[in-house]
Amino acid sequence: MPEDLMSVEEALERILARVATLAPEAQPILEALGQVLAEDITAPFDVPPLDNSAMDGYALQAESVRGARPDAPVVLRLVGSVAAGHLPEGVVGPGVAMRIMTGAPLPPGADTVVPFEDTDELARRAGGVPGRALTEIGILKEPRRGDNVRPAGGDVRAGTPILHAGMPLRPAEIGVLATLGRARVRVIRRPVVAVLATGDELREPGEPLAPGKIYNSNTYSIASQVLLAGGIPLRLGIARDTITDLQEKVQAGLEADLFLTSAGVSTGEYDLVKDVLTRQGEMDFWRVRMRPGKPLAFGMLRGRDARGRERAVPHLGLPGNPVSSMIAFEQFARPAILKMQGRTTWARPTVEAVLEEPLVNDDGRRFYARGVLTKRDGRYYARLTGPQGSNVLTSMALANALIIVPEFVPRVEAGGTVRAQILEGSEDLLT
Ligand code: AMP
Ligand code: MG
Repeated sequence: MPEDLMSVEEALERILARVATLAPEAQPILEALGQVLAEDITAPFDVPPLDNSAMDGYALQAESVRGARPDAPVVLRLVGSVAAGHLPEGVVGPGVAMRIMTGAPLPPGADTVVPFEDTDELARRAGGVPGRALTEIGILKEPRRGDNVRPAGGDVRAGTPILHAGMPLRPAEIGVLATLGRARVRVIRRPVVAVLATGDELREPGEPLAPGKIYNSNTYSIASQVLLAGGIPLRLGIARDTITDLQEKVQAGLEADLFLTSAGVSTGEYDLVKDVLTRQGEMDFWRVRMRPGKPLAFGMLRGRDARGRERAVPHLGLPGNPVSSMIAFEQFARPAILKMQGRTTWARPTVEAVLEEPLVNDDGRRFYARGVLTKRDGRYYARLTGPQGSNVLTSMALANALIIVPEFVPRVEAGGTVRAQILEGSEDLLT
């Protein structure tokens, strides 16, 4: 077994050590969905701002309707009505009630709201003059004081810290920001991730395919992974296997926050990509103890920011084989992209599963096998998607999980236990 292989953990650690969290930006709140908050949010006022009604009903003093029962209603005099968005006109003292709608401010003096269902409103309406407002209302049930009143500040009190820098914003947090009247919010910027495919054999989808050529799929699977990780993909197209073309295409991506190349890191071709990228910075070539995805390049390019100032751009050279590039992205690029956005966790959910067929892993590397996970009677079962070649991209398309066979475990028998990493979009397996 070759000694110079690097563990997956060490490779990730080295990459993350060179990746920094990006600067904050101000965003309209809806656009900030999924971004990490870069400020602490404190309520500038009470939420709700005023005592208000939780139901459509009658605002009154609980004291006024002691002992009310269906067969012994307590009748109160009506002093108007109040709808949401309006202020009550009048005061509710003993023996009176005000009609009130959900969300309307409670009139002064009232301490309780009795819902319509617990009054004789329907019967009175039926017996009264259509269109004429009622002058009295019968209460059929004794409430407890405070029933159906939402007190001012009951959700949040003015001055209370609610959201904290570092929190990823979900729909609920976006709603809380809106509740507080915030139109914009400071969040960590999303990284721009340059994606460059390399190889003379590649053609873009939509172009005719000449003999000996294949379509460029990596740009599209990788850019999709970038999007799902919250990054902004910058597609640089295909660089031919020439120094000049590579150099030119690399220049176009030097304003990015992360530079991803695909292919050109297998031993036969490594020199060309290395030549070009070392002129633009540094580049390390690693052999990682994983399958697929062993060859991996990492370096720092001399890039520039939007104002043209020099800035180091981390570069990750993903393998060319379509499955390898996706799995290497998952293990290395995704955590880097998440870290840039201020996230502190990036592990995919994993479960323990019973293997339904034997799995051979005889080269001492960690095997990420493409698997189909099913759940039966509360247990997970895993089988392979079929052929596992690193060029067989349909094996990823069929998979809902990556079955992980640890390095140095040469074989797992059918019935043995494995861990499986659940792929994006298949989280419903966890329920
Ligand atoms: P390389 O690392 O350049 O030797 O590429 C390894 C394998 O991946 C070769 O079979 C390539 O044709 C294939 N490959 C490289 N880049 C892409 C791409 N962008 N899309 C699909 N297959 C690719
Ligand atoms: Mg190539």
